[in-house]
Amino acid sequence: MSAMELGSLLRKGEVSSEEITGSLIDRIKGEDRVNAYITLTAEQALGQARRADRELKNDGPRGPLHGIPVAVKDNICTKGIRTTCASRMLENYIPPYDATVVKRLREQGAVIIGKTNMDEFAMGSSTENSAFGPTYNPVDPEFVPGGSSGGSAASVGAYQATAALGSDTGGSIRQPASYCGVVGMKPTYGRVPRYGLVAYASSLDQIGPITRTVSDCALLLGAICGKDPKDSTSAALLAPDFSASLGKGVKGIRIGLPKEYFVLGLDERIKERVMAVAERYQEMGAEVREVSLPHTRYAISAYYLIATAEASSNLARYDGVKYGFRAPGELSDTMEMYQRTRSQGFGKEVKRRIMLGTYVLSAGYYEAFYLKALKTRTLIRQDFDKVFEEVDCLLTPVSPCLPFKLGEKVQDPLQMYLVDIYTVSVNLAGLPAISVPCGRIDGLPVGFQIIGKAFDEEVVLQVAHAYEESTGSE
Ligand code: GLN
Repeated sequence: MSAMELGSLLRKGEVSSEEITGSLIDRIKGEDRVNAYITLTAEQALGQARRADRELKNDGPRGPLHGIPVAVKDNICTKGIRTTCASRMLENYIPPYDATVVKRLREQGAVIIGKTNMDEFAMGSSTENSAFGPTYNPVDPEFVPGGSSGGSAASVGAYQATAALGSDTGGSIRQPASYCGVVGMKPTYGRVPRYGLVAYASSLDQIGPITRTVSDCALLLGAICGKDPKDSTSAALLAPDFSASLGKGVKGIRIGLPKEYFVLGLDERIKERVMAVAERYQEMGAEVREVSLPHTRYAISAYYLIATAEASSNLARYDGVKYGFRAPGELSDTMEMYQRTRSQGFGKEVKRRIMLGTYVLSAGYYEAFYLKALKTRTLIRQDFDKVFEEVDCLLTPVSPCLPFKLGEKVQDPLQMYLVDIYTVSVNLAGLPAISVPCGRIDGLPVGFQIIGKAFDEEVVLQVAHAYEESTGSE
């Protein structure tokens, strides 16, 4: 059931949070085909659930998520619960504080059920880059669940969590949501506080919901968003009632189809599916038209320069001194400690990114690569500004391909990076976007993406919800 359905049963006293949480834990322990969790906090979760039950009975609900079990990606800090980023480097790291989003969930009575698997430091698109082994697609374990929030998406897809939090730097919420047949939203940059999110690329990172339905997505977003004095990039905007924008239909809404998103390289079957979604919107009264985002072809290059540059700086803190892993054995000097610690603590993909990022920031290359990427980023943002003068939102694919098999792309980084073609521009421009399921192709889930104007999550949710409602999946 969705969080919405469970919440209403909880408030009527027809089910207890302990029962819900217990049944999810039983399912996680019973079936280990998915490997969605790095750390399951069963005892704590059951304790929280019992407390939620008492509070619901005595004082009434503190919010719509009171008593609802939520899984949290393992790059979001949880006080007293290890937060590994799926890396050997942080294998034993126990944060002394909660991320703001976790704090807010706890305050609203949500139950934190565990920490989910991911690509190491959120670098990847398949959850194969995890020091704790890969996560498998809940629909078919031969296939990847997407990444980097693969554990969060798989936990919801496998009915091992009612909802989950992921993080999205270049698609890491939306693409795994699409691959696992669930809803995933990257909010506008600044909408959700990043305090306590382990930084990958700080100018791109956002935390967001992964849920069974669009209505649940609105609930969870409402619970975590809003200004946080501990994150200077969080926006000082009041949290709107996102649920209020649902059910309004799409009559008169102008939806753009960016022509650069429907080109060679996109699986024909996905293209057909997304076009069918466009037709459905038209039937429901939306106005659909073709638009152009001419700088799309530079997005992957710009993203992989900016993200790696920021990562190389952010990950410099893992040096064996302050916290986390330190290489064991005799060390002759500090330099040797840094070298051995970082060589042994980081996985292959993380090292590749640090090297690439260090290179593009180095004297002589800075202007040619990093600065140029920043200029390209501006052009990409301006493309969006321009089309949003004539449309309210955009409809696109999430991924150019269906979920692929484990091992299929992991040896070829470029192939893996190209999977992000339809998601990275949104991060470069700081916009909100959602991935919504639209059935299956060859038995594998597929989703479409709605991209909105900055801080216009309401329209994104409204449009997404209209489609979901039209399919009767709620
Ligand atoms: N796949 C992209 C990357 O590897 C995006 C990851 C993310 O959004 N965290 O960088």
